[in-house]
Amino acid sequence: KAPRERLPEWLRVERPGGEDYTRIRKQMRSLKLATVCEEARCPNIGECWGGEKGTATATIMVMGDTCTRGCRFCNVKTSRTPPPLDPNEPLATAQAIASWDIDYVVITSVDRDDQPDHGAGHLAQVIRTVKELKPSLMLECLSPDFGGDLSRVALVATAGLNVFAHNLETVERLTPTVRDRRATYRQSLAVLTGARALAPEVVTKTSLMLGCGETAAEVRQTMRDALSAGVEIITFGQYLQPSKRHMAVSRMLPPSEYENWREEGMAMGFKYVASGPLVRSSYKAGEVFLEAFAK
Ligand code: SF4
Ligand code: SF4
Repeated sequence: KAPRERLPEWLRVERPGGEDYTRIRKQMRSLKLATVCEEARCPNIGECWGGEKGTATATIMVMGDTCTRGCRFCNVKTSRTPPPLDPNEPLATAQAIASWDIDYVVITSVDRDDQPDHGAGHLAQVIRTVKELKPSLMLECLSPDFGGDLSRVALVATAGLNVFAHNLETVERLTPTVRDRRATYRQSLAVLTGARALAPEVVTKTSLMLGCGETAAEVRQTMRDALSAGVEIITFGQYLQPSKRHMAVSRMLPPSEYENWREEGMAMGFKYVASGPLVRSSYKAGEVFLEAFAK
């Protein structure tokens, strides 16, 4: 195994700790819930799980651990024929989440292009069941594009979510080299526009990875496109190469540039911008949602 390259100072974090973190982790073990936070060894786990009162956030992935797509930045396993969907997953996942002492859950999934509806019905069923069992839980779905089919987007967007998130990931020019060829920039914008129109009460959100070779003008254009699609929350974070087989990092942006994007985004009209080297789409999502929309 190649030695890990040293990361700049601003990308190193302390080991998580604290009462909330320990409690949530203990429960998670006993409930046999697998979180993206732990499996991806996310550096934000201390902040997300031990967030401000009432905003503890975790991310779980459903519809299996194998994706039918292969984006060049992503570390998830891929296969054209992943194992079938588990019909017991909606209830089992919802029961586990409902008995978990967490305030905000991000449900994400692999892309299931092998399924007739790309898994939209299954994902909607997970969301509905979680909300039925624990209505007070705030719920965000980081959604696939479902091949751009708006009837599938509608199933998910109207299932009882607080936030519908779908990531543009990068600027238009770089999309074909960064994301799987089935994931186009225009299709993702159409998914966001559709979700906004189909479920106007649901907040929409998108995320961009920086350091993939984009220019500042391209980032600005992407922000304008997102705003036109009705996106209210945007996040920016540094792309980090998961392994040598993945796309190389083009540039490490210093924290000051993230701060500039945050200010610019707020001035452009987003309700909330989370921006920083380690920010991920689900970073402190509970706190972000409440700060953006607390009355
Ligand atoms: Fe990873 Fe999502 Fe791309 Fe699948 S669609 S490879 S899970 S980023
Ligand atoms: Fe989990 Fe997302 Fe927070 Fe990472 S950023 S700890 S994956 S909720």
